[in-house]
Amino acid sequence: MIIAALKSNSPTDNRSPIHVDTIKALLDLGAEIWFEEDIGKGMNIDNKIFEDIGLKKHSRENCLKNANLIITNQALDVDELKQIKSNSTILGMVNPFNNKELINLCSESNINLVSMEFIPRITRAQKMDVLSSQANLAGYVAVIESAKHLSSALPMMMTAAGTLKPAKVFVIGVGVAGLQAIATAKRLGARVEAFDTRDVVEEQVNSLGAKFVKIDLGETGETDQGYAKELTEEQINKQKELQAKVCERSDIVITTAQLFGRPAPLLIDNKIIDKMNPGSVIFDMAVESGGNVEGSETDRIIERNGVKIIGISNLASKVSNHASLALSNNYNNWITDFYDKELAQINFDFEDEIIKSSVLVFEGKITNERFQ
Ligand code: NAD
Repeated sequence: MIIAALKSNSPTDNRSPIHVDTIKALLDLGAEIWFEEDIGKGMNIDNKIFEDIGLKKHSRENCLKNANLIITNQALDVDELKQIKSNSTILGMVNPFNNKELINLCSESNINLVSMEFIPRITRAQKMDVLSSQANLAGYVAVIESAKHLSSALPMMMTAAGTLKPAKVFVIGVGVAGLQAIATAKRLGARVEAFDTRDVVEEQVNSLGAKFVKIDLGETGETDQGYAKELTEEQINKQKELQAKVCERSDIVITTAQLFGRPAPLLIDNKIIDKMNPGSVIFDMAVESGGNVEGSETDRIIERNGVKIIGISNLASKVSNHASLALSNNYNNWITDFYDKELAQINFDFEDEIIKSSVLVFEGKITNERFQ
């Protein structure tokens, strides 16, 4: 069995799917581990360090052509799929909602496809949950990046030169990323408010020392996987109107609102932005899935009425070493849980809830109902 780890093919993604500190778990399986040359460059880990612990360096082409299991942080290009031999498995973050062609081609070419985005939200699978491990780091990065663009400091400072007031931060959407954004902003001394349509998070917001903004939108709620339900147009309008006052008094607004498999809701429009103070910052963490903020663009800072609107892709990649460490642990946990050492292959047991949910294509068939 050859397991090959590929470099990211996106210029804004410095993460690696393997990490020196976690590689022992894979080596212990007895498999041959290959890696694409320069895989660790984005986190300052040299090829030689991987080679010294027993991994083999190869070109991308060699990895694609020979591996039985390919680990990747990004969906592969269609042309690259043609190089992969049949019966091999691709395991990674393959952005399935935007890559239906990849799913169809894997099925046609008899390549198994495992999407780590489809790890179910059950306790046993938390150690494999790439969305959570990366959203957590992304929440941290969003605060650090926002703070860089603010012309004030975040903490209150009582100095001989006068008292400096703490910055006010408003976090919209309190999932994994939002909670980490709140915690990070609090650690930096900001005054933090937060809102989510799932009112179950109020207690979590309070426990971090932030204030939950109460907005009554009628029936909202969450799915059995803990994701927010989509609001009606009327509810969105009400939310916009009622949260406008909080945006106006905030120095930093961080939006994290997402809907699994659907475009993110637009929650901040130009009317709200125009009432905010010049110099304030809006960080749109949903920019890659449609955006929560009118006018936000991926990898650009837009200025409107003196308000900076920031959108950055692959946020967790800004802390690439930790992001790679967490990701590699997520992948390793999937592999080691389903690797059959005697047969030296993955045991695709569709009775298992994790296999059933995360495997999109198996033996030429699209197995996940969503994509059939
Ligand atoms: P997500 O990335 O899908 O969305 C981010 C947040 O945006 C969510 O909290 C959502 O409720 C919120 N949101 C959606 N529409 C909104 C709107 N109009 N206004 C304000 N907020 C809005 O969510 P997530 O980070 O993946 O987490 C969702 C929940 O699942 C969390 O409670 C998390 O703790 C839980 N979770 C459970 C597991 C597990 O049990 N294995 C794993 C990960 C997350």
